[in-house]
Order: sequence, then structure tokens, then C-alpha cells
Amino acid sequence: MKHISILGSTGSIGTQALDVIRQFPGKLKVVALSGHTNINLLIEQVREFKPEIVHVSEDKNLEDLKNAIKTSGTKLITGKEELINIATYPKSDMVLSAIVGFAGLIPTIEAIKAGKDIALANKETLVVAGDLVMDLAAKHNVNIIPVDSEHSAIFQCMQGEDYDMVRRIILTASGGPFRTTDLKKLQKVSVKDALNHPNWSMGNKITIDSATMMNKGLEVIEAYHLFKIPPFKIEVIVHPESIVHSLVEFKDRSIKAQLGLPDMRVPIQYALTYPDRAKNTFEEFSFTKYAALHFEQPDIKRFPALDIAFEAIRRGGNTPCIINAANEIAVNAFLKEKIRFMQIPKIVEETMESATPCVNPSINDLLETDIESRKIAEELIK
Ligand code: NAD
Ligand code: MG
Repeated sequence: MKHISILGSTGSIGTQALDVIRQFPGKLKVVALSGHTNINLLIEQVREFKPEIVHVSEDKNLEDLKNAIKTSGTKLITGKEELINIATYPKSDMVLSAIVGFAGLIPTIEAIKAGKDIALANKETLVVAGDLVMDLAAKHNVNIIPVDSEHSAIFQCMQGEDYDMVRRIILTASGGPFRTTDLKKLQKVSVKDALNHPNWSMGNKITIDSATMMNKGLEVIEAYHLFKIPPFKIEVIVHPESIVHSLVEFKDRSIKAQLGLPDMRVPIQYALTYPDRAKNTFEEFSFTKYAALHFEQPDIKRFPALDIAFEAIRRGGNTPCIINAANEIAVNAFLKEKIRFMQIPKIVEETMESATPCVNPSINDLLETDIESRKIAEELIK
């Protein structure tokens, strides 16, 4: 039995993870959950999964949660600092890091320090602090198993292979809702249009990131750290069907790909059961339904975020942290209709140019960089 803690159990990844866990009562058990604002869903989850401990960061409707869990024996903790107790809960073997954004960083680091294996959905952790996090994981002998579908695909392709024999890795991107929208129209797209992803149903932040292709930029940085592969060996190809989840080409020109329907439960399950596979009841893939698969070059003019991410790797230090913070602020402002869609990458780039660079940042330096970059991005938005 593997005991799991979930950081962000009420989100898109969190709820799909619980759907996976529900299928394997003899293999996977939830011991700790954390939610943020969706108390009603958290109450349902506590009732069904009876975790030993649950954390909620906001105080609204706390009484409801307290009353609901009175009889379940679940311990309730609150407050921002207390979230660490879910990440380091002594009885858990693995932590699913599924909070969105920078907020996931510190709990993930604490989980690693406590020796927990990590199923990593929160890509921002590696974007912001990839060097530090990967070093810590090595030091504490912790496995970081990717949940992100592209990275799960590469990780699966690499089983039994030698990283020295990799010629390049190819991340696929759906291209999002604006893959074929021309530049002029892109200036005027609405929040509703941007949230309408063709293949995946995800949280709002990553859905907007997919529309700007910043998501793919963040994933390039994530892959760079996870697989310790130089950026010139990482390529992005647009694949509108989202069936080929990513590919690895080896030096003998053999290419391995991992395929399947766009269903996040598959990579979530792989991460939770790794190194085993387990039989499930998900929908079967039909080759005739997907008789043709397409691949195209990403258009950097319409999707500059991809270039910004490669530039952030090139500059190194705290630059990826800067672009992450600016992007979180810009995406939020777009969701609140304070800025237009194409201003998102502009704000990210301008913040990258004006925030204070730091060559070899510590965690404290990164926390400072995050605060400074958010301020700069907010000023730009004003
Ligand atoms: P979401 O918005 O649906 O869920 C986020 C979760 O984090 C919720 O449980 C929320 O309560 C919690 N949360 C948010 N802010 C918090 C804070 N400040 N403190 C504590 N908890 C907080 O997001 P999601 O789509 O599930 O994405 C989660 C992570 O997984 C992101 O990093 C995303 O990039 C990554 N990811 C998601 C998908 C997907 O299909 N949704 C795919 C690949 C990677
Ligand atoms: Mg992805």
C-alpha cells in the first residue's frame, strides 16, 4: 500500500488523482489532503477518503468543514505555514504536488527534505528553483516523477535507456485555442475564448498558459531540469490532436514516443504507481478515429512566450523565477480583463529585462526575486 499526500486536492489535477486512487483501494491510500478555497469539495473529499489530516488555507466556511469532519477522525489544520505538515506528514510515502504556481514551491521543497517521493504536477517548482530542487532531491534520495503529460511521456520513453544516448527530446504542444488565429485577431481575443482549450480541461492558469504557449515555455525549463538535458537538445513541435504526448530521439536515430488519449489520469496514475503499471478502466484508444496525426512548427511571432523561456534558460540564475512571477501576475490580470491577451508575453519580457538578476540564487534570493518581479509586473499593468 502506498500512502499519498495531495497538495491541492480540490484542483483539476487533485480531483483527477483522487479518481485514480478510487480505482485502486488495495494499492493507493490517501492520508493527507490540502485545499484552498473550495471548502465544499474538500468536505466531500474528506467524507469519501477519510484522510488522517486535512489542511485548508482560507478561513471562510471553516465551521462547515469542522462540523463535517467531526465524526471522521480527520485532523484539521489551517494557516499558510501549516501547509508544510501535509507535505511532510510522517505516514505518507509520496506527495502529489498539485498546487498551482509559486505557492507550490516551499511545500514541495519541504516534502523533499522529509524524504518523500514527489509526483510533480506543479511545474513552477522546477521553473523557479530547478537547480536547487534537483540537488535537494539527489541529496535526500528522493524520486521526482513527472505528472505533466509531456514529461511523463519522456520519462516513460527513457525507462531502460541511457541519457548519454539522447540526441534530442521533442515536446509536443497542442497549440491551444489560437493555433490558427492570426496576429491581428489575437490582439482582441476574450477571456472566454482563451479558456476554451480544444483538448484538455485544466485549471484556469495553465489553460491561459496553453493559449499563450507560455505553458510550453515553462515545460521546456521543466524538462531541462528533470532530464538534465541542454536546451539545444529540446525542441517543441505543435501537434493539434494531443495524442503523441512527447518523443525522444536517440543517437542511433531511433525515436520513441508515448501515445494515448488526452487524459491526465494516465500520467497521474503512472506517477502514483511507478515503477509499476496497473490495469484501469479508462477509454480505449482508437487508431481509426485518429487516422491522421499532424505536426507543425510553432509560430514565434504569435507565440513569443516560447522564445522568452529559452532566453530565460540561457540567462540562468533567477531569470526563470522572474518570468514565472511576471507570468502569474499577467495571467491573473488578463483573467480579470485588466490587460489584453498579447500583453501577457510583453509584460513577462519587460519584467525579465528590468528585475534584478542574481547568478546563483538561494531559496531566500528566489523568494525576493518573486516579490520584486510581481511588483514590476503589477506596475507595468497599471
Ligand atoms: P487548479 O487551479 O485546478 O488547482 C489548483 C489547486 O491548488 C487547488 O486545489 C487550489 O485549492 C490549490 N491552491 C491554489 N492556490 C493555492 C495557495 N496559494 N495555497 C494553497 N493551495 C492553493 O490547477 P491545476 O490545473 O490542477 O494545476 C495544478 C498544477 O499542475 C499547476 O502547476 C499546473 O501547471 C500543473 N499541471 C496541470 C495539468 C492539468 O491538466 N490541469 C496538466 C499538467 C500540469
Ligand atoms: Mg503539459
